[in-house]
Amino acid sequence: MHPVLMYHAIGSGPEIAGADPHYAVAEAAFAAQIAVLGTSVALARQVGDGAGIQAPCITFDDGHVSNYRIALPILLAAGLGAEFYVNSATVGRRGQVSWSELREMAAHGMSVQSHAHHHVLLSDLAAHELRAELEVSKKTIEDRLGQPVVVLAPPGGRYNRLTVAIAEELGYRRLAVSRPGLWQRFDAPTVPRFPIYASTSTATVQRYRRRWSRDTLRARLRYQLTQLGQQALGNRRYERLRNAVFASTP
Ligand SMILES: [Zn+2]
Repeated sequence: MHPVLMYHAIGSGPEIAGADPHYAVAEAAFAAQIAVLGTSVALARQVGDGAGIQAPCITFDDGHVSNYRIALPILLAAGLGAEFYVNSATVGRRGQVSWSELREMAAHGMSVQSHAHHHVLLSDLAAHELRAELEVSKKTIEDRLGQPVVVLAPPGGRYNRLTVAIAEELGYRRLAVSRPGLWQRFDAPTVPRFPIYASTSTATVQRYRRRWSRDTLRARLRYQLTQLGQQALGNRRYERLRNAVFASTP
């Protein structure tokens, strides 16, 4: 039973240009938070070994260039592995890691897995579109990096039964989702993760390691409320509302 942490961009100011600042964690906070874990092993590796849940895992969504520039040196200094979920269609674009940077990360033992081909909400797609997103992404990353791609982090944490079925059929072995909670069921198709925000403290990360804590309950409640909002408004209207609310926050 271990926590899996979900990060996005790391840094502040111009370092996180193009990233959602609410999900961006300052460099010092990131270093302090991962030190609390002590160990981190990529989900792809733990799943590949088939030996059950062995360790916590530090993960990153969206492939922001700060993952390479800022997070990688900190991870290496701490001797911790991590897993990076990238959108294969936008690798190398402005503000995103490049294929050569990902190759360097992989050479350092980091795991690069799929965040789909484009950053689209998979639960909104028809079966043939969904299949194309997942198939192209897996093949592109495997061809470019020579690492097996067996973990999918659905963009926006949005997935449904069809997503799980098609991912499984294509050779993905787990979905890393954004439902907060400890990873305790090795055979389940989804791996819960704790989203880490700009405002998340090191003490909160410490408490995420425990089976029950007020911080875990709060994270679950926040997730449930988001789910309700999405169900009530539909994905597109929810995203528009969310962006409007965040844009108006100073
Ligand atoms: Zn994302």
